[in-house]
Amino acid sequence: MSLEIIIGLEVHLKLNSPNKLFCRCANVQNFDGLDPNTHVCPVCTGQPGALAVLSQEPLEKSVQLGLALWCKVNKVSSFDRKSYFYPDLPMGYQITQQHIPTNVDGEVSFFVDKEFSKAKHVRIRDAHIETDTWKTTQENGMAYLDYNRAATPLVEIVTHPDFRSADEVIWFLQELQRIARYNNFSDAEMEKGQMRCDVNISLREEWSTELRTRVEMKNMSSFSAVRRAIEHEVERQTVVYAAWNDVGQETRGWDDAEHISYMMRSKEDAMDYRYIPDPDLPPVILEQSWIDKQSKYVVESPYTRIVRYTTEYWFNKEYVNGLINDVQINMYFEERIADGCLPKSTATWLVWPIARWMNENEKSITEVAFSPADFTTFLHLQASGDLINQHAKTVIKDMLLTGKAPQTIIDEKWLKPVDAGQVKTWIEEIFAEKPDLLEDLKWGNMKPLGFVTGQVMKRSGWSADPKIVQQELRRMF
Ligand code: ZN
Ligand code: MN
Repeated sequence: MSLEIIIGLEVHLKLNSPNKLFCRCANVQNFDGLDPNTHVCPVCTGQPGALAVLSQEPLEKSVQLGLALWCKVNKVSSFDRKSYFYPDLPMGYQITQQHIPTNVDGEVSFFVDKEFSKAKHVRIRDAHIETDTWKTTQENGMAYLDYNRAATPLVEIVTHPDFRSADEVIWFLQELQRIARYNNFSDAEMEKGQMRCDVNISLREEWSTELRTRVEMKNMSSFSAVRRAIEHEVERQTVVYAAWNDVGQETRGWDDAEHISYMMRSKEDAMDYRYIPDPDLPPVILEQSWIDKQSKYVVESPYTRIVRYTTEYWFNKEYVNGLINDVQINMYFEERIADGCLPKSTATWLVWPIARWMNENEKSITEVAFSPADFTTFLHLQASGDLINQHAKTVIKDMLLTGKAPQTIIDEKWLKPVDAGQVKTWIEEIFAEKPDLLEDLKWGNMKPLGFVTGQVMKRSGWSADPKIVQQELRRMF
């Protein structure tokens, strides 16, 4: 019996808008060291009579996220109350979009191999806006409630069951993380709970179209935990089916330290959420012109960038990886291209000497000593031939160390390429000393070419441009 793995995802992405979803309380991104209950008000704690009003920035970011996921943005959408009782939800309900979500029917494309040659497209059912819960801490038999996270904005991205392996899920999550970072929707750190992933897993016999009972897995807080949880659950269901038993519909939690899953809820105690339209919140009505304006803030997808880097620029995977995984490097690279710098040399300097320096000094690209404009000048000087490769290495080293402008370094260190006239004189000298070299070249024996070039480079103190040497040399025969 060969079983096919069917996976669908529900990913919660915490938006980094300055305020919470329905009040002006700060939407804190990092709770470390923050005193509990310092960013709360009657609205986000659900006090009777408090009136929720949708904040503008989370709505904008939610729609931009929808557009980045190629969703259709509904011109009319609405909020519902999802009622359940839970200690970390004293309001008694979560505000979500059950009936008419703002973003529906999208698609995410991503690569599923290290060579960027195999693409996969996953359908997005919807990307709905909702509030986050409170936080409970159990200590010494007491439960402590912290409302700082209460009603902060989330977008839940729900996919169709289009994944067929744990690998595909991880590639997708990485792409989603890049989309969130490129567009500044969220830092999307799983470890910080800014991106949380629930996985629905079922198995079916290959060639069958029937969907079997699915099990929902929760509580994975890293990419590797997601992978382990999926592999574990696939194994568990395989064993159940092999024994001719049935998998029960249930929600299971993943304990990554113990590498085990445990039952949280079975179908029998599935909750009835009693969804009702939120009576306090009017429908979200969006003008087409407003939606069009939001689309201008959405940057090209990381997937499309990878396609451009590999097919237009012919970058290998080292270059692509060096340019796509760090959002700041990626933006920096794109800005240089917009400045008219050559893609290949821009990437070479960024991915090799500059990235190495950043690694060694634990600095980001925004912390390098030189300005972006100086780096553009450096690349332009190189492209025009005023800065030859041998000298460029010295210049970039000095720029990294001192932050001086490239032209200043060139002037101070006399790093100008030797002019063509001087190169010609040296070539003539060499041929005068060894006339048979020129004879050989004239008769079509190209062997002396390398030798003469080397001699000229030596006489120039390695300050001649090899391109100019070749050019001058070829004029002689
Ligand atoms: Zn509040
Ligand atoms: Mn949700």
